[in-house]
Amino acid sequence: MIAAQRGRSGARDDSAAAPLPALVGRDLEVPLAGGDLRRYVNLDYAASTPALELVRDAVMDVLPWYSSVHRGSGFLSQVTTRAYEAARHAIGEFVRARSSDVVIFVRNTTEAVNLLSRCVTLSPGHMVLSTVVEHHANMLPWRRLAPVLHLEPPASPATLLAAVKHALEDRSRPIGMVAMTAASNVTGEVFPLREIGHLAHMHGAFFAVDAAQLAPHRPIDMQAQNIDFLSFSGHKMYAPFGAGALVAPSAMLRNVEPMLVGGGAVDFVTLDDVQWTSLPDRHEAGSPNVLGAIAMAMAAIALQNAGFERIEAHERRLLAYLEGQLEEMPGVVRHRLWTGPNVDRVGICTFGVEGIPHALLAAALSAEQGVGIRHGCFCAHPYITHLLGITFEEAHAIRERLRVGDHARIPGAVRASFGIGTTIEDIDRLVLGIRQLIEEGPRLQYTQDPRTGDYAPVGDRRAMPGALDFLPLAETRGAGAGCSQF
Ligand code: PMP
Repeated sequence: MIAAQRGRSGARDDSAAAPLPALVGRDLEVPLAGGDLRRYVNLDYAASTPALELVRDAVMDVLPWYSSVHRGSGFLSQVTTRAYEAARHAIGEFVRARSSDVVIFVRNTTEAVNLLSRCVTLSPGHMVLSTVVEHHANMLPWRRLAPVLHLEPPASPATLLAAVKHALEDRSRPIGMVAMTAASNVTGEVFPLREIGHLAHMHGAFFAVDAAQLAPHRPIDMQAQNIDFLSFSGHKMYAPFGAGALVAPSAMLRNVEPMLVGGGAVDFVTLDDVQWTSLPDRHEAGSPNVLGAIAMAMAAIALQNAGFERIEAHERRLLAYLEGQLEEMPGVVRHRLWTGPNVDRVGICTFGVEGIPHALLAAALSAEQGVGIRHGCFCAHPYITHLLGITFEEAHAIRERLRVGDHARIPGAVRASFGIGTTIEDIDRLVLGIRQLIEEGPRLQYTQDPRTGDYAPVGDRRAMPGALDFLPLAETRGAGAGCSQF
């Protein structure tokens, strides 16, 4: 089934003119607060990408054939099981996993890192080596495994490698696991994975990589990049159907008690005992998200067919253009880990504007321009506080003053992020919106929610789209009730 989809995406077409794969909803119009309609400019890919049309079509094609996987004896169960296992194979290929690796389907990167940190054991006294730059998903789970040594945000890739080497050589606090992001979801820099993995292995440590931010932008080769464990999410790579993956050496997961227990993960259960089954089922208790896995596999195939060199070239051009425009704007403060012509950065641009709160900037771009960006801390509080010059002690003071659910006083920035569906016109719309805000301020009046810190325009005339009418929308509290800080 996956192979049939590959045919639809077309054999690899290397002609420079061939468009990159199209995205669902690319010409969608959204209302502005005043009631006018505008084509939506989605610059929030680093939180979640739109779906590829190829992914949507694959899911729709599989749906009639959908049934239970594994032990179902009906033909549809056989079809679904074959498709699910083919998706697993495609994901392994996408990241050049070793034949001795296993792909476990999970919900997302968060679950993958939690699962991994529950499955591995480090020798007594060994630590995890990580950085301050990490997303919380690649930070909090490791704390449950062992003490974590966080490297300060390094000034350059070379500084990072020197710090990793130094930490690994310090035998007074031995490192069993190096856990790092492949690319920052806050500032976009691509980490030198091959070199970090090489250092880790030279010193007898494992190398676990959070590839959530890198997967849709650059090719991943677990073998060439010395990666032992890899986690990533479908919704960040154009397949928002609720699946993610952990790729790991089978030997490391084979005899480990599963994190999630229940049906499917067992060979046999008695009233007082259980025999856990073999891989991968051992770590996929419950009915799996077959459609999510197939969606993710289709996205992987489509990205490979499109060619990462073309994807990278497209995104680099957009980033250079955006950075050039922002540099000329008074009051714009860029946040970056590394600067310079040779820095490899995915399509992410994070900044603040002097005198305009980040939440207001994001709200005004949405309400007045139809441009969607993200504001807040991007689930990387230690890193964003570092970027904003907030000391460790000051961060602690913020933490102590907070009540549960209170987001209003957490500092932050705005982030524009993009990918294969983004155009120069999209960047122009963002730039125009920021320029207007700097020069004239917001055109509408806004009120701030004291709890979430989010701003809403007074007299907002935007209504939920009719396509959602089947849901009891009137019962919901509206935007801003949840966490907007991914
Ligand atoms: N790591 C990075 C670098 C991310 O960007 C994200 C998502 N923003 C995650 C981990 C967590 O991914 P998920 O929410 O899909 O679990």
